[in-house]
Amino acid sequence: MNLMSIYRTLLEHFGKQDWWPVDEDYHKKVGSDKRVEIIVGAILTQNTAWRNVEKCIEEMKAKRMLDIKRICELDIEKLEHLIKSSGFYRQKAKRLKDFMCYIKEKYNADLNKIFSQSDERVREELISIKGIGFETADSILLYAANKPFFIVDAYTIRFLKRFGIPLHGNYESIRKGIEKRLRKDVEIYKEFHALIVELCKQYCKKVPRCDACPLSSACKHNLP
Ligand code: SF4
Repeated sequence: MNLMSIYRTLLEHFGKQDWWPVDEDYHKKVGSDKRVEIIVGAILTQNTAWRNVEKCIEEMKAKRMLDIKRICELDIEKLEHLIKSSGFYRQKAKRLKDFMCYIKEKYNADLNKIFSQSDERVREELISIKGIGFETADSILLYAANKPFFIVDAYTIRFLKRFGIPLHGNYESIRKGIEKRLRKDVEIYKEFHALIVELCKQYCKKVPRCDACPLSSACKHNLP
């Protein structure tokens, strides 16, 4: 079974996930840029469960803090307090503030300006910002900038290894290996990443539930 077939099987089983989860109504109401919520989520989700990130985002929304300039200008201690539920909150507050101040100072707080560059150029620039690694950069690129970079997270590696898709080398070579096997399509990348997360939450857990998994008949891990 190739990656496109796996994608179609998961899509049929779980249905469309419509990621990244953002509160469209909130952004319409206050006139804010929903891409800021995606970036905040991508930074805060490092090494923590999504439910902890959701708490922080709710707090930030209540204080109208999902805004590049306001995050940049907020006292670091106040920002730390706002995102405390996400864990590693000192480090993450600094990363958030550094990122937002970079966009404010270099691009006048306008994400369209950084995202309008070529795909590779934006990626290089994001990775050059302190605290933004490959996975965070690719989450921002795919879901906030609509650029075709596949996200290689721990779920993806766990599932693909078990399934028997060969993965070699570092983050970059694994990402390129996956992208080579898929149609280059932002919507497929978005949906597939979300489907892999769902698969790993429901079936391909630390202790896998292969009997009920929609991929059980094709998965190497489950073969006798
Ligand atoms: S069959 Fe088992 S190991 Fe394979 S993808 Fe499903 S849950 Fe994971």
